[in-house]
Amino acid sequence: MVEEELAHLFKAKPKPKDLVRMKKIIAILKKTYPDSHCSLKYETPFQLLVATVLSAQCTDHRVNLVTSVLFAKYPDARAMARASVPEIEKLVRTTGFYKNKALALKELSQAIVYNHNGKVPETMFELTRLRGVGRKTANVVMGNAFGKNTGVVVDTHVGRITRRLGFTSHKDPEKVEEDLVVLIPKRDWTLFSHLLIDHGRAICTARTNPACDRCPLFELCVTRGAGPR
Ligand code: SF4
Repeated sequence: MVEEELAHLFKAKPKPKDLVRMKKIIAILKKTYPDSHCSLKYETPFQLLVATVLSAQCTDHRVNLVTSVLFAKYPDARAMARASVPEIEKLVRTTGFYKNKALALKELSQAIVYNHNGKVPETMFELTRLRGVGRKTANVVMGNAFGKNTGVVVDTHVGRITRRLGFTSHKDPEKVEEDLVVLIPKRDWTLFSHLLIDHGRAICTARTNPACDRCPLFELCVTRGAGPR
């Protein structure tokens, strides 16, 4: 089933030299960031789903502060489904877009309780039918909570750095993902995003002058400090 769900992703044709370059880049990133992992804090798939919905346009650090209080009060879908939207709004206010996010949390919790017996569904199809859950959020949950590589999560770090590295010219995250899945071994899809997020925070920052002079990918990068992309 997962393989069938993936078929539509493989549209781009990879260049052989990009496959070689990507292989070297992944090996270097794995050595540079050996503990790379999801920086959102969670104990269950439901909590990761909630944290990921809250992380839109918000830092993981802020989300972790908010969820430490939110999960103490509403640890699972049944508890969150019973909460009122204003109660949830109060707790998630500082993550931005809090009205939309609170409504999404309430409705996705209700759907999980009523349609999935209180458990987060484990398919891309069912996940993306939940309110507030797009392909990116579903990929995060599938990859990190269920250990299923269903795609590459493209956030601002992943988009910016893969454009700088010359693997894509697209800005649309779904198009970027199509360019990446043909270059990265499937077993590394989830880890790849964590590696690039770590690299984006430490060296290849969004600033006009990323730290190219101390970047371990310098020899393999096509833009080398040309700045934001
Ligand atoms: S060389 Fe510069 S632009 Fe290229 S990946 Fe490294 S920090 Fe980013």
